[in-house]
Amino acid sequence: MEQIVDLRSDTVTRPSDAMRAAIVAAEVGDDVFGDDPTTALLERKVAALLGKQSALFMPSGVMSNQTAIVVHTRPGDEIICEANAHIPNNESGSPAALSGVTVKLLEGVGGVLHADQIKARVHLGQNVHQPITRLICLENTHNKAGGRVYPLDAMQNVAHTAHELGIAVHLDGARLFNAQIASGIDAAQYAACADTVNICLSKGLGCPIGSVLAGSSELIEHARRVRKRLGGGMRQVGIIAAAGLYALENNVDRLALDHANARRLAEGLATLPQIQIRLSQVETNIVLIRLDDCLHGVIELVEILGTYGVLTVPFGPDTIRAVTHLNVSAEQIDRAIEIFGKVLAG
Ligand SMILES: *Cc1c(COP(=O)(O)O)cnc(C)c1O
Repeated sequence: MEQIVDLRSDTVTRPSDAMRAAIVAAEVGDDVFGDDPTTALLERKVAALLGKQSALFMPSGVMSNQTAIVVHTRPGDEIICEANAHIPNNESGSPAALSGVTVKLLEGVGGVLHADQIKARVHLGQNVHQPITRLICLENTHNKAGGRVYPLDAMQNVAHTAHELGIAVHLDGARLFNAQIASGIDAAQYAACADTVNICLSKGLGCPIGSVLAGSSELIEHARRVRKRLGGGMRQVGIIAAAGLYALENNVDRLALDHANARRLAEGLATLPQIQIRLSQVETNIVLIRLDDCLHGVIELVEILGTYGVLTVPFGPDTIRAVTHLNVSAEQIDRAIEIFGKVLAG
């Protein structure tokens, strides 16, 4: 029985024995020469799953997103992001540092931007004072909003509006397969709204490393050059890509278990008087736990829970985030609920 219940993030997942066996068995070559068969296979597989012509293995989600931004923009351009999205808040200022673009933040509801909102705020180059809006970035599922699924019709409307205006769309789908499992809508349908899509293998899918960027052959060819420039051209990378292939075969459908555990946690914690949880907003594997009239501050409570073996992260002035994943069992969830109850009762 695992003593620590690690709910800090789905990035803490460790490769299973079966995944490690796939890694050991991987056929490899020098991928910068285009010689790594396992990486090529993973790239073809992700492209097919997302309905895109081509895909490119990436060492991280940040590099994947930022490579897309470099590809879609020129210095001085503007990109639009939702105000709480990962790209403007959690990627070390890289749109400015790597692409030389400004970021316009638009406030979404539950992470969702609407087409009208975007239409009202884009700059199309008629006025020399204004930067030209080149790209809109969407996030599905939306991390800061608590793993909310972007409704397909809202995404389609944004994409339609953007493309009519000659603006590209990038989808940060770090947890796109969580959206697929929760909504029953194929990842390819979400991906169809976007010119480029990032997916992360190292979160709920359980790989130690890796993300993939998918798009048209032309965009991905450009992305390959940008990835090299950023130092992301790797050699016998099939060692890592093999884990990705294993995960896509074995770890997608099981995300439903993570979602069930998140719901179990949310429902259990919602019975505690010091906690507020919007149960209808727990759609995937992330639970936002709002403290209400609590003796402890957020940082203090996270620390105390940690001493009892329940690891979470502070997520704003009155909120704690808990994320379920393949190394958390239903039994551990029950233990976490019990410990929350004890700690909050003093
Ligand atoms: C984790 C994550 C990323 C990628 O971050 P890395 O630290 O590079 O793994 C991108 N977008 C979202 C929404 C994420 O949650």
